Amino acid sequence: MKKKKLVIAGAVILIVAVIAGFCVKPVKQFFADRKAAQKTGFYMDTVVTADITGENCGETADAVFNAIQVLEEFCLSKTAEGSDIYELNEKGKYEVTDSTLGILEKSLEVCKKSGGALDIGIGKLVDLWNVKNRQTPPSQEETDALRGSRYEEISVDANEVTLGDGVKIDLGAVGKGAACDSARDICALSGVKRAVISVGGSVLLYGEGEFTVGIASPETGSADYIAVLTTGAGFVSTSGTYERFFDYEGKRYHHILDPETGYPVDNGLCSVTVVSDSGILSDALSTACFVLGLEDGMNLCEEYGCQAVFITDDGKIYTTDGIRDSLEISDDSFSFAD
Ligand code: AMP
Ligand code: MG
Repeated sequence: MKKKKLVIAGAVILIVAVIAGFCVKPVKQFFADRKAAQKTGFYMDTVVTADITGENCGETADAVFNAIQVLEEFCLSKTAEGSDIYELNEKGKYEVTDSTLGILEKSLEVCKKSGGALDIGIGKLVDLWNVKNRQTPPSQEETDALRGSRYEEISVDANEVTLGDGVKIDLGAVGKGAACDSARDICALSGVKRAVISVGGSVLLYGEGEFTVGIASPETGSADYIAVLTTGAGFVSTSGTYERFFDYEGKRYHHILDPETGYPVDNGLCSVTVVSDSGILSDALSTACFVLGLEDGMNLCEEYGCQAVFITDDGKIYTTDGIRDSLEISDDSFSFAD
């Protein structure tokens, strides 16, 4: 009898052990998957946020922020002494790092393909407008002296970059997207499950499944969303008049400049969002398409195989064909154009 009890007890222990063996891994996995990190910082003159889930999420968030800081301080900043762009702008000729070179080359490609709508050589015009700190527009003489194409006066020979007389580089239109590319590389290395990392108007969506991204109200900025885009992993960048501007005598002067006129773009658009599988491309195209306007901007996105959402001052929303069904308007003062 005693022996029988022992056998039953042994069998029960065995069954429990087997069940526990099956359960421990999924339970561990469950907790690993629920690991989450949120982090906020300020780099590249804008707010950076990271929302990461999966193993090593905290370390990954730290690494992403470090990488963005390094990219800014050593490569792209116009104002940080010792950065590639600072030194290049000061000296007119400079041997840049591979990271900066890759960003310059991709940017110059989009400058060319957009017919100079994107022009990373208009640093002096950007400084003249200094939209963040100005309250009145510069004089016509001042803008006339700096308007016109400049990117063709940037030449690249291996890592040595040379600027034409009076050309200064400004990577404000592409840097945040490039930072998102660095963030993606770090997420891929660290093996996190999902990440949403936003650097100002550029966002990295990393991981499997779908993500929703709010499109900021062109009137009030990012606090309100006028539409929600559902999309897979990739990059989404928005250029909008609301991001940086001042109002003077009833007119809005914003930070996206038309190199041809020397003035802020005034073509009826108030926001352009581009979805791409490259961060720098989504950022470069959002600015380029804003300057190009609705028709030429749409054509450029199609040429690059990117999806886009254009919003006009009168509240009409235009999209490339591939994205229309993924966009849901949540503010009834906006509507699809057709
Ligand atoms: P984004 O917010 O990406 O559209 O970039 C706007 C920033 O790019 C501005 O704040 C300027 O620093 C710079 N910028 C403005 N207009 C242009 C332009 N036409 N081409 C290249 N960079 C520009
Ligand atoms: Mg841009």
